Amino acid sequence: MAASSSLTVLADVASGPRQSDLDKCVHCGLCLNACPTYRELGVEMDSPRGRIYQMAQVAEGAPITDAYIEHISLCLGCRGCETACPSGVPYGRLIESARAQLEGRQKRSFFCRLFRTFIFDHFIPSRIMLQVAGAALYLYQASGMQRVLRMLGVLNAIGNLGNLEALTPNAEVPFFFPQIGKTFPAQGERRFRVAFLAGCIANVAFARLNEATIRVLQKNGCEVVIPADQNCCGALAIHSGLKEIARRLARRNIDAVLSGDYDAIITNAAGCGSTLKEYHELLEEDPAYHDQARRFTTLMKDVTEFLASIEMRPGMRPLNTVVTYQDSCHLAHGQKITAAPRKLLRSIPGVTYFEMPTADVCCGSAGIYNIVHNELAMSLLRDKMAIVNSSGAQIIVTANPGCLLQLRAGSRLYGRGQRVLHVVELLDEAYSSTPG
Ligand code: SF4
Ligand code: SF4
Repeated sequence: MAASSSLTVLADVASGPRQSDLDKCVHCGLCLNACPTYRELGVEMDSPRGRIYQMAQVAEGAPITDAYIEHISLCLGCRGCETACPSGVPYGRLIESARAQLEGRQKRSFFCRLFRTFIFDHFIPSRIMLQVAGAALYLYQASGMQRVLRMLGVLNAIGNLGNLEALTPNAEVPFFFPQIGKTFPAQGERRFRVAFLAGCIANVAFARLNEATIRVLQKNGCEVVIPADQNCCGALAIHSGLKEIARRLARRNIDAVLSGDYDAIITNAAGCGSTLKEYHELLEEDPAYHDQARRFTTLMKDVTEFLASIEMRPGMRPLNTVVTYQDSCHLAHGQKITAAPRKLLRSIPGVTYFEMPTADVCCGSAGIYNIVHNELAMSLLRDKMAIVNSSGAQIIVTANPGCLLQLRAGSRLYGRGQRVLHVVELLDEAYSSTPG
């Protein structure tokens, strides 16, 4: 099917969660304590079991009420419940389907639908628009306006605008966009040839992280190709129930990458990785792309997963610091990767590693959740930072850009100024000859 780019008002008219997935839940409740919204609110209907019960009711013909929409919306999509569930309930698939169904039926105004379609189908996938927005953000930050507003606390007086502003990423110039299409040679003998997916907003807000990722891969004998026609993975669209937009983006990425001959496709964003590894499900009813999607997902690796699976080259200098790790939900629960990042951190000489209790409970980031449900997200973050503060850790490490932003805000608002880094950024510092 050809990818359409016309500005049509899209709604993914999905049929909702599969009955076979709903039937897997035996209502045992073993997932409740793993659920951040249940822990925070103590409401059954905001627990995984409660949400599945409500989805089943809707599947049987119950009306979609405002209360149902609110309970589904309050779910972080962190999939902590999926890890805890002994019956193998595919909760991630259930919540995505429920949201896609709501998106198809919700009575949004024409302009609201138009705006959402513009954001997810045209703004985020557009390199030009992201560069313009990134330049405006850079001006706001470099002019000192951000510092002044934060010092004066002006935004705190306007609802929760202060909290929202604290989550704003830094515009990192130069942006990463000019690197797209380039190939970076392996250092020493070439061991692997990998494709790197640079993300969408990450090209503006995590340009240095992307560069660090390439350096660490190069140090470990990887030739790193940044495929020219890559695009946003579609995760943000899926989390907003706009699956059809995500399918178009998935097809573009498959076309961009599968024409090359790679040992692996790498991402440093766990949230993107979860979606990229599920392209075969997203495109399962697309006969033209289903087999290619399967091949794509077989090659797809999180950067920590890839590095932990190869023999890392020596050459790291001691960092002499105390480090703790916050699981990214999409890595730990979405991709079931928990050992790889810890193994990498423990491999850095001089690092004292502190295992954070509840490291696998969401920090409140969850895509755009911390913007849409800011109060609850900040409450989760406050709890998280209380644990970090008592640990004495100087660096909080995680594996996903969204979690980096949330934890940086946590360090600033509720913490003790701890540095917040991605796993590969700490590896990069250890490999580099000068302190970071
Ligand atoms: S989702 Fe799993 S753990 Fe939770 S109630 Fe259902 S069967 Fe039990
Ligand atoms: S995805 Fe996270 S917030 Fe949603 S029900 Fe599961 S554990 Fe709770």
